[in-house]
Amino acid sequence: MPHTGQCLCGQVRLTVDGEPLGARSCWCRDCQRIASGSATVNVLFPEEAVHYEGEISTIRMTADSGNTVERGFCPQCGAQLYSKTIEPAGMPMRVRAGTLDDPELMAPSATIFVDSAPAWAVMDTTLPRYSRGLDSPLLEESA
Ligand SMILES: [Zn+2]
Ligand SMILES: [Zn+2]
Repeated sequence: MPHTGQCLCGQVRLTVDGEPLGARSCWCRDCQRIASGSATVNVLFPEEAVHYEGEISTIRMTADSGNTVERGFCPQCGAQLYSKTIEPAGMPMRVRAGTLDDPELMAPSATIFVDSAPAWAVMDTTLPRYSRGLDSPLLEESA
């Protein structure tokens, strides 16, 4: 069975023919802006497995990582759908976990861009926490 999902208003529908490669929470400032102040939670899939139906608006920017990233969102309800890295190519697509019909599909296994999180941010300290991306220094466990 494929995994399915949708935006808030249902105009955009999602089908994924494949299993998640991983999941993580991201506290970069870009994610805080699109996620109303919190981290985004993203489930990673091979890009070719992810299929959207409906009208999608996109924005391309240089992300905090320095990569060129495209973010897709519903033009009607504004719900964030995904991000994918255009440059460098070949990275997995990040589907916003909240758009999946099954939010339990995969729990985040790491927290990234912890350095830019606000002091009040609540994080699972049993998970690896990276100061920036996955290639950045790991923070000490405090739990
Ligand atoms: Zn929508
Ligand atoms: Zn982020």
